[in-house]
Amino acid sequence: MEKGSPELGGVWKRVVVVGGGVAGSLIAKSLQFHGDVTLIDPKEYFEIPWASLRSMVEPTFAERSVIYHKDYLTNGRVIVGKAINISNSQVLTSEGHQVTYDYLVIATGHNGSFPKTRSDRLNEFQADHEEIKSADSILIVGGGPTGVELAAEIAVDFPEKKVTLVHEGSRLLEFMGPKAADKALEWLKSRRVEVKLRQSIDLNNCSEESKTFVTSSGETIRADHLLVCTGKPPGSAWLRESVLKDSIDSFGRLRVDENLRVKGCKNIFAVGDITDIKEIKQGYLAQKHALVAAKNLKVMMGGGQERKMTSYKPNFVKVIVSLGRHDAVAQFSLTTLIGLVPGLIKSKDLFVGKTRKQLGLDPRILPHY
Ligand SMILES: Cc1cc2nc3c(=O)[nH]c(=O)nc-3n(C[C@H](O)[C@H](O)[C@H](O)COP(=O)(O)OP(=O)(O)OC[C@H]3O[C@@H](n4cnc5c(N)ncnc54)[C@H](O)[C@@H]3O)c2cc1C
Repeated sequence: MEKGSPELGGVWKRVVVVGGGVAGSLIAKSLQFHGDVTLIDPKEYFEIPWASLRSMVEPTFAERSVIYHKDYLTNGRVIVGKAINISNSQVLTSEGHQVTYDYLVIATGHNGSFPKTRSDRLNEFQADHEEIKSADSILIVGGGPTGVELAAEIAVDFPEKKVTLVHEGSRLLEFMGPKAADKALEWLKSRRVEVKLRQSIDLNNCSEESKTFVTSSGETIRADHLLVCTGKPPGSAWLRESVLKDSIDSFGRLRVDENLRVKGCKNIFAVGDITDIKEIKQGYLAQKHALVAAKNLKVMMGGGQERKMTSYKPNFVKVIVSLGRHDAVAQFSLTTLIGLVPGLIKSKDLFVGKTRKQLGLDPRILPHY
């Protein structure tokens, strides 16, 4: 169907997607031939978040995982900027754009700060790599999936480095069961990563220049390089003074109904980590949200009845944390596994090819940038 051609009643509905991350990119791509789609994102690219840790140790890995929005959104508009407010019919951006919508999708995930251009992001990975390479000792703060995966990447690619992982909880990977946490801990120890549990580092009162870090228990850790892998708050601060201010829960998440519309709103959807859906915040679930919301938007844009919309059912925990290039620890509904078997599912390609394919891109061959 050509842009501007009638879908129903003559005009294309205007769909504005705020946030070009895992969920926003997929929903924009899925709707681009069904409506007049505008994607608003502070970056000119979509980045596969779970590939970023590998990209820090091997910067060429980022060439497939940092993707221009225009490469998958061939029939939509991209506005590179931050949404700063919304009304019942428009989104306002930091650059002063006022973008009118018939349907709005909010997919702002978690707060993060990334360069605007793809080339700057690739340079950032290169700089991360140089810093890791030149450091003899590295301190990682945070023992969630990001800290554990990063420690494992460094331990595998740079086995000669002294890596210390400090985590304030009583075990690693608290979003998984204790069995998975124990297995990950054993694996890291077997790779000479020193793990310090129940300790924290006051990040506001430490300086990397001194190369000395004191933990909450008074232990001193010497490290040439500090990598912070602590959680980030939901990306909803910009909505606090908006028409959706009463739809934000105490955790900063948007309350959604079973069709993934913001509760009480007919034409505003929310998907991904920003939602209050009772499940762990995972990229593969954000993708599922995007597909359900896209389906529902197609029903609405086609003038279909609300009862024809699909309900989203929260999913059981299914998590795979990679441990370098071959191993992983996985928790499925009935079992926990570690080693090469779960590693075969995730660790070699980190689902980069799969994610590219889902966006309609070649999983391997790069376009000519
Ligand atoms: C290091 C790391 C490793 C991970 N590993 C895995 C894994 O192995 N498996 C897995 O399933 N999940 C993993 N996750 C979790 C997964 O990445 C998230 O669940 C997923 O990214 C959520 O998707 P989202 O679209 O909701 O948010 P995001 O992907 O975070 O996207 C949010 C987007 O919104 C944009 N944005 C924010 N504010 C604004 C604004 N005001 N205006 C416009 N745009 C805005 C951001 O720039 C970003 O592009 C990992 C996460 C990280 C950080």
